[in-house]
Amino acid sequence: MDYQAVLSEVWDAVRPVVGQGRVATYIPALAAVDPRRFGMALATVEGDVYGVGDWREPFSIQSISKVFTLALTLARDGDALWKRVGKEPSGNPFNSLVQLEYEQGIPRNPFINAGALVITDRLQRLTGDARGTLRDFLRAESGNPSVDFDPVIAASEADHGHRNRALAHFMASYGNMEGAVPEVLEHYFWQCSLAMSCADLARACGFLARHGQRADGSRLLTRSQAKQVNAVMLTCGTYDAAGEFAYRVGLPGKSGVGGGIIAVIPNRCGLCVWSPGLDARGNSVAGVEALDRFTTLTGLSIF
Ligand code: GLN
Repeated sequence: MDYQAVLSEVWDAVRPVVGQGRVATYIPALAAVDPRRFGMALATVEGDVYGVGDWREPFSIQSISKVFTLALTLARDGDALWKRVGKEPSGNPFNSLVQLEYEQGIPRNPFINAGALVITDRLQRLTGDARGTLRDFLRAESGNPSVDFDPVIAASEADHGHRNRALAHFMASYGNMEGAVPEVLEHYFWQCSLAMSCADLARACGFLARHGQRADGSRLLTRSQAKQVNAVMLTCGTYDAAGEFAYRVGLPGKSGVGGGIIAVIPNRCGLCVWSPGLDARGNSVAGVEALDRFTTLTGLSIF
């Protein structure tokens, strides 16, 4: 398949949608990004990378980081982590507090903020440096040693992180935080601030297309664990829009409020699209449209 030609066709088709939606403003530093940006990249499991638009431009990965912290924790901890976090779609916004009380401090899944805080807490206990472990992993998998945190974004999120603080303290009240809340939040804010391009992220999610095998051929996850992470992405990766995303795109995917979305085609490639204008549920408008067009054009979905 001529991936470069397909990406160009997708880019042409989504041009009218690019710029629609609203840039996230609840993290003020994210509001400075131009909503008319658009990039898309595809990295094959063999290591070839194709891209269009702003595909080499780093952006704030935000919640896309949650896929990688889950994988790193699952690799070290196995099924133990599922005692502290569920694997059901939430049907609620990513930063919602209500469900947590009904469910005694056990977040619905690892991709809403509460669930990701539990995972970061665990990864911090397991490694002593959750954010550094994540950064090193992403540098290795993307093949880009300059992948790094954006301190301005991390500080902006910390300054306006009342909701995440509330979630973490609430879970602590149920005994679902091992470490000190401020330490866990610090690592969480920094993990979300990582800046990566579409090319970096398309490569970095390759281990999920290779059933758990890393870029250097070593294994991070068992085949079964890679299946589990992909399945949770499909059902929970785009929050309360996961049903619509599965319906339109038909791939495991994970979005972030920086406007990025990664998606995985097992055995074939990792995809990443970026456009900062978000819909009401926090997913990139042009990003979802581009992935919809891509799978519709190529027939490459998991269904
Ligand atoms: N850092 C963001 C937050 O915690 C991540 C949310 C997202 O990308 N959906 O609110």
